[in-house]
Amino acid sequence: MPEVYDVAVVGRGLIGSAAARHLAESGMQVVVIGPDEPADRRLSLGPFCSHPDEGRITRVAGRTPIWSQMAARSIQRYADISERSGIDFHHACGLVSSSPIADKWIENSEIAGGNALLVDQQWVFDQTGISLNNDHPVLYEGAPAGYINPRRLIKAQNKLAEVAGAMFVKEAASSLRHTNSGRSVAGMWGSVTAQRVLVTTGAFGSELLNCSLDLRRMPRTTVTAEMPFNEEIPSLICVDPPDERLDEIYWVPPVRYRDGRVALKIGGSLRNSSPVPQAALTEWFNGDGDPTETEALKNSLISLLPGVQIDSWAQKPCVVTNTATEHPYIGWVEEGVAVAIGGCGSAAKSSDELGRLASTLFIPGGWDDSLPASAFEPILS
Ligand SMILES: Cc1cc2nc3c(=O)[nH]c(=O)nc-3n(C[C@H](O)[C@H](O)[C@H](O)COP(=O)(O)OP(=O)(O)OC[C@H]3O[C@@H](n4cnc5c(N)ncnc54)[C@H](O)[C@@H]3O)c2cc1C
Repeated sequence: MPEVYDVAVVGRGLIGSAAARHLAESGMQVVVIGPDEPADRRLSLGPFCSHPDEGRITRVAGRTPIWSQMAARSIQRYADISERSGIDFHHACGLVSSSPIADKWIENSEIAGGNALLVDQQWVFDQTGISLNNDHPVLYEGAPAGYINPRRLIKAQNKLAEVAGAMFVKEAASSLRHTNSGRSVAGMWGSVTAQRVLVTTGAFGSELLNCSLDLRRMPRTTVTAEMPFNEEIPSLICVDPPDERLDEIYWVPPVRYRDGRVALKIGGSLRNSSPVPQAALTEWFNGDGDPTETEALKNSLISLLPGVQIDSWAQKPCVVTNTATEHPYIGWVEEGVAVAIGGCGSAAKSSDELGRLASTLFIPGGWDDSLPASAFEPILS
């Protein structure tokens, strides 16, 4: 164990785990500091994370050319990560997306080499049984679009980072200070020193920084619907879904959850929802989410999959961390301290590329990429 590591990565979520792998595999001495997900979210004081789940949609079609390219680059590496770690995390069941800007998403997908194409609602119904009932154009993206298992992706990234020599402290950090030998990251467990630090703490952990990032933490509720797993259906994103209280919904097809249920997960956003301060997040995570959002998600699912048999419902709270720029913040915020924060509800599928881009900040030569560093510049509030 070195006295001073090259890099300390704080946060062991999707982005931090990816960055740690890329840094360790490039030959750096890396220490990763971050807890496992809370054993019981109702009793935990945090920090909480955005990935304690069995499914996250993956697709190349996206809202900006940058998002599409980050997704395409990540997806290309899924097979290598799976093969070398021995951990599968990707399921290529395709994606249906209905939105007023479907053609823009297709354009962005084409830039990134994706296969999304326009289809119509009747085709979607005939192929999948999904009954879309708005006037928006619809796209279909075939394999490798589908979903990933975020827990298993983190496990795979951590395993490969460890093989490459990374050390792990599976605890939260409570301070980050400058010392004579570098940066000291400390917690109840003790401390480690590194020349430089990458902070990847998602919605939590901003108090470690000497600056305040412009982040909007959006409380969201997700609902799981236990259903028989007969035929495969694609992942779905639908703007203006059947229940008008929501402006958008998405779902991940039925997968097995930790409680043993095979369930489809549906989430989305209520119209005009507002961010919550970080201080209020623990109370939010200890609760059951928003009852109005829960009801609207259930209504939407029943209407989109007419006749589906639902054996049980469950719901839980989560948080999406938005930035002011719609792209994650990746960059230096003070001497020796960089961040890779702000997944904007879209970073799971692209986390390997986000981690790789963040790792290049620490590698001789720095950021040298066709994606401009300026698009990721952290904005302070
Ligand atoms: C309900 C929901 C659905 C989503 N669906 C999709 C989807 O379908 N497709 C998609 O691509 N993306 C999706 N996303 C977005 C995606 O999950 C996030 O963008 C992604 O998880 C962000 O990764 P992260 O590493 O920034 O944050 P996280 O995964 O939250 O990781 C941050 C980590 O930092 C740790 N941490 C915090 N404070 C400290 C501290 N003081 N010390 C040490 N560690 C600390 C936390 O414990 C956590 O493990 C969804 C998000 C949510 C919430």
